[in-house]
Amino acid sequence: MSDEVKQVLPLAKPMEGVSGKTGTWRVTKPVFHNDKCVKCRLCWLYCPESVIEIVDREDAFITINYDYCKGCGICSDVCPTKAIDLVPEGE
Ligand code: SF4
Ligand code: SF4
Repeated sequence: MSDEVKQVLPLAKPMEGVSGKTGTWRVTKPVFHNDKCVKCRLCWLYCPESVIEIVDREDAFITINYDYCKGCGICSDVCPTKAIDLVPEGE
């Protein structure tokens, strides 16, 4: 397996447990801006829920699985270019 493939494999897979889809707990929501992203992968590495996936598409380097994202804001805090805004849920 190449190093590149290993880097984009998820650390873990979020899935529904006894608490259901835990994204419903969220009061703030991370919003990704592809134009500011420098592809450093820090958000992917630090997300405690493993809900950030590196897709490396033209229109988006990452995707966020909102079914399980709890809106903790860590991805936004660690992003060096402010490519992830944290906004109130529902905006
Ligand atoms: S807000 Fe928290 S749970 Fe949601 S993607 Fe960012 S780091 Fe992961
Ligand atoms: S931390 Fe920011 S710049 Fe780095 S991959 Fe994530 S969104 Fe892109």
